Amino acid sequence: MQHQAVPGPQPPSRERYWAPSANARRATPRSAVTNALTVDVEDYFQVSALAPHIDRATWNRRECRVERNVERLLGLFAARGARATFFALGWIAERYPHLMRRIVAEGHELASHGYGHQRCTELGRTELLDDVRRAKEVLEDGTGQPVQGYRAPSFSIGGGNPWAFDVLLEAGYRYTSSVYPVRHDHYGMPDAPRFPYASVAGLTEIPISTVRAGNRNIPIGGGGYFRLLPYAASRWAIARFHREEQRPAIFYMHPWEIDPGQPRVAGVDAKSRFRHYVSLHRTEGRLERLLQDFRWDRVDRVFDVEARPAALAA
Ligand SMILES: [Zn+2]
Repeated sequence: MQHQAVPGPQPPSRERYWAPSANARRATPRSAVTNALTVDVEDYFQVSALAPHIDRATWNRRECRVERNVERLLGLFAARGARATFFALGWIAERYPHLMRRIVAEGHELASHGYGHQRCTELGRTELLDDVRRAKEVLEDGTGQPVQGYRAPSFSIGGGNPWAFDVLLEAGYRYTSSVYPVRHDHYGMPDAPRFPYASVAGLTEIPISTVRAGNRNIPIGGGGYFRLLPYAASRWAIARFHREEQRPAIFYMHPWEIDPGQPRVAGVDAKSRFRHYVSLHRTEGRLERLLQDFRWDRVDRVFDVEARPAALAA
């Protein structure tokens, strides 16, 4: 079945620099590139942007919705033959070991999002080592599978804490997807490499995909942008990335992003509220289109992490 990987003459409306060129308007078949699909497995009350309004001590008492949301994602992925990498919190894996086993049993890669969802920038070396080791142990003990990948909460590895790579290597990880080469008020390292590279210590970093606009990197790999902008913008941007870079893209999302019925957290400022709740009811439909329009697989396979980690160095 052939799908259009590039939208028609309808340009994404909010971003001038995304106006499609004549080249982009030419219809092309579904891209042959297989991309990496990633899910950060955490619940709605663990999100960094809402953290100032939620005491960690209350996590245990809150209604958990992550299980049904992950099951829903697994169903969507299975229907489209897509595989993904699930970066799961140790805190979640401890409570839902059967969910972790199901992720693995359905052919997905299970990786680590740390244990307690503290930003790496808030942890010292020893605290980070404890957190990422504990998460790895919980995930591996629960499934019997080695965990190779790590994604920092809120992409919290950047210019201020490059030592985090050494810590991850020490804990036994082989790759990370934790540096976002964009400018954002909560995260990002705009001058970081845009493509997979090896840290000085030898760990492979696989950054979320961006496209260039002038001298800036524009995020195209999911998160709030996927919910905020029309789907055509994401489709067009990923197709442009393929055309320009001839590489697989990497996309990320969260289970709570397909859950419009999640409890609303009280006292959240207007900006964070908008970012968290915008278009939750549209995300599942958009995700289905994304799964249909592009090919998706696990990070370790798409970027050949297991076979040749060093070969990914830029
Ligand atoms: Zn997270």
